[in-house]
Amino acid sequence: MSTNTLSITGLEDALKGILEEGGLLVEDGSHVVDGVKPRFTATPSAAAELAAVLACGNEHGAAIIPWGAGSSMLLGNVPERYDIALSTTRLDRVLEYEPADLTVTVEAGLTLAKLQALLNEQGQFLPIGGPPQATVGGLLAVGHGGPSQHAYGRPRDWLLGCRIALVDGTVVHTGGRVVKNVAGYDLSRMMVGSLGTLGVFVEVTLKVAPLPAREETLLITHADMIEACDAVRAAAKRGLALRATCVIENRAVYWLSGAASAVERTRRELNEAADGNKIERKDAEAGEQFWDALAVSDDAPELEVRASVPPSKATDALRQLEVFSQDLSLGIGTVAYPTIGILIARLSDSDVNAYANFIEQARQAAVDTGGSLVVTRASADLKARLDVWGESSALSLMRSLKEEFDPRSVLNPGRYVGSI
Ligand SMILES: Cc1cc2nc3c(=O)[nH]c(=O)nc-3n(C[C@H](O)[C@H](O)[C@H](O)COP(=O)(O)OP(=O)(O)OC[C@H]3O[C@@H](n4cnc5c(N)ncnc54)[C@H](O)[C@@H]3O)c2cc1C
Repeated sequence: MSTNTLSITGLEDALKGILEEGGLLVEDGSHVVDGVKPRFTATPSAAAELAAVLACGNEHGAAIIPWGAGSSMLLGNVPERYDIALSTTRLDRVLEYEPADLTVTVEAGLTLAKLQALLNEQGQFLPIGGPPQATVGGLLAVGHGGPSQHAYGRPRDWLLGCRIALVDGTVVHTGGRVVKNVAGYDLSRMMVGSLGTLGVFVEVTLKVAPLPAREETLLITHADMIEACDAVRAAAKRGLALRATCVIENRAVYWLSGAASAVERTRRELNEAADGNKIERKDAEAGEQFWDALAVSDDAPELEVRASVPPSKATDALRQLEVFSQDLSLGIGTVAYPTIGILIARLSDSDVNAYANFIEQARQAAVDTGGSLVVTRASADLKARLDVWGESSALSLMRSLKEEFDPRSVLNPGRYVGSI
């Protein structure tokens, strides 16, 4: 259904009837996605209100984009339609926190920074990275792992249960609050990484972890990037106390984390393996700033891609990215996470043709390894020429889930895999 057939007045009246004072605004340009501006911004202050907005959108054939902090809005294809930005910022309450159980239940609009501050007071944390303003709901909807995935796994591994608002206005509860209740396949896990195309997280219960006793970061300079990758993979095989590793240019970076004795042993072993290469050491605080800075790309590249490959193929895949960019005379900056098989490449100062060529070649190379490549940042012009997600063998399953949960394509229409 297109916006042409949508009664804007009818929609506005209906939304006014649902939302509290100040909860509905005519969009001022702050929730634009790929150049597409919605009519309204709805900011519900309770889960039931949010669900009613979804039902209203469904009834009126309006397209809705859930909006957390907006830090990952460049991810996804250009929206086909977009009438309402559905902000979760007022859903930011902490509902239950049991430090002894290592579980916390919060509303989905709570920011990562606020959640970490609360947990830190009890010597705990959520081992998922991301920009501090990111919301818990947005983090899970994107579902990408970050550097700490090396030791702590992916975001979905920390989700115990959730409440999800569906487009028919119902709010469903899935999973349990206690770790042992979580088993097998469920809706909450399906929601992770589905970019808010099936429903909207309104409440989530997360497992949390104790803060490590000691942390520091070591940066070891190698002859080149490939040698640095090999060093990181060799170190990871030795069972050291590492929370994360990455390679930036010719530097291998290690986030040492754990009991004091384990961190000291790891430092000693890495020093020995460095074999005279230059080593820079950052204490816990400076190290954390370093890893946080990786999550906040201030330089706003024109193109950013994220390749996932088997860790054993990461070095070759990285080499290929370098070759493709050189052949196309593209300046490239890469951050590689060889132990989890993630490669991020950022490119700027070129044109859409060169970028499209680069994406095609880099994607094929990732697919040839058994992996995939997602375009995580690109101009609307470039996105119009390709599917940012690439092909997926699970597309028909995804289509049937979409048909079941959102048959009128209300949520994030066109933005997900296969332009679902
Ligand atoms: C530079 C950078 C580094 C990052 N590093 C990490 C990392 O280390 N580890 C990691 O796990 N992730 C990382 N991320 C990804 C991170 O998960 C997202 O940036 C961020 O968490 C998204 O939160 P947000 O509130 O800004 O979401 P938004 O950008 O507002 O939304 C992102 C998507 O989720 C949908 N959405 C938003 N809220 C909800 C909801 N409540 N329910 C359903 N759908 C919703 C939106 O419609 C949109 O499609 C990184 C991102 C960036 C930009």
